[in-house]
Amino acid sequence: MVKTHAAICSECGEWCDVPFKPKSNKEILCKDCYKELNGYY
Ligand SMILES: [Zn+2]
Repeated sequence: MVKTHAAICSECGEWCDVPFKPKSNKEILCKDCYKELNGYY
């Protein structure tokens, strides 16, 4: 089981769960925005 962390996506502003520890000085992207910006998941 993967531990997830709650974070606010810096792109859409929605709460999401990310599989890594969010850093305050780094942008957090939810799965959808990550996929959209990177073209893959
Ligand atoms: Zn997003």
